[in-house]
Amino acid sequence: MNSKCIMISVTLVLAACAEQEVTTVDRTNEQFTKRELQTRLSDIQYHVTQEKGTERPYTGKYWNHKQLGTYSCVVCGQDLFLSDTKFDSGCGWPSYFKPINENCITEHRDTSLGMVRTEVVCSECGAHLGHVFPDGPPPTGLRYCINSASLNFRSNETPVAHDQPLAVGDTIPSIFLEATEKQPFDLRSSAAEQPLVLIFYRGGWCPYCTEHLRDLQSVEPNLRGLGFRILAISPDRPEKLKETTEKDELTYTLLSDSSMVAAKAFGLAFEVDASTLEKYKGYGIDLEEASGENHHMLPVPAVFIVDTAGTIRFAHSNPDYKVRLSGEKLLEAAREVAMNVQ
Ligand SMILES: [Zn+2]
Repeated sequence: MNSKCIMISVTLVLAACAEQEVTTVDRTNEQFTKRELQTRLSDIQYHVTQEKGTERPYTGKYWNHKQLGTYSCVVCGQDLFLSDTKFDSGCGWPSYFKPINENCITEHRDTSLGMVRTEVVCSECGAHLGHVFPDGPPPTGLRYCINSASLNFRSNETPVAHDQPLAVGDTIPSIFLEATEKQPFDLRSSAAEQPLVLIFYRGGWCPYCTEHLRDLQSVEPNLRGLGFRILAISPDRPEKLKETTEKDELTYTLLSDSSMVAAKAFGLAFEVDASTLEKYKGYGIDLEEASGENHHMLPVPAVFIVDTAGTIRFAHSNPDYKVRLSGEKLLEAAREVAMNVQ
């Protein structure tokens, strides 16, 4: 959906409930209500775009992001910057030497913090983006220093897809997933901190997955004792992960791969055919509702053990979703990896 469509539908919704929805954020052209934005945006996204906040340097999702694609406004969806104008400024925030066009950004003089700076905001919705400084590279000499929290990213790279699941000796891809509070989760950085037990499962709706996650919970203390951190990845959207975590009192981390980027990169993604989709619907299972996406894809359930170099040291996957690696077998494999690492 482009930004215009979003705008029109939001306007219609607002018109429909204009009686109740009187609190609007004046800085966003009254297109979005404060409540809607507080629900939809994370705390930092709200603080930066609506309260002119600044994220801490080197903490945002995009300061070191190098994929090819388009950065858009997190509030209204207007396209703002292209990846080919992004440069490494060393300042810890995503930096661009020019916007995608002349009309998408509005400049304001900002005299806060005892400095004279030029604030840049989204021309469509007024969201605070960051500042522009005259110390950028050619051809413009400008540096648009933008908060990651104000941006969304759309890749125009074909996702790395493998026909075969990644195997022992392969390096895990550099991928961002979403945790239960929708906060970005950097898979490679996490592996660099601590060896991982990485699980791909189909979703909280699948009884075999539920069983698998519980079994995993039973060996979690042992794995933790060996120095491993468990991450379980599925197409479920963050809200669904939260439900699963609470229902089964899981103490390890569930991650959302709703767009299937991770499953594709690990060579585990497959498309669910129409008749299976129908069958699932008959059971009350709605894959679109679970992931919030309409790709109708699922991962082959899999288990990987990954060392701190990001190298896969153990791999198990089985296209028959009813067959899972038992917690005992996993523990055995983890012990072996741990022994060989030391
Ligand atoms: Zn905007």
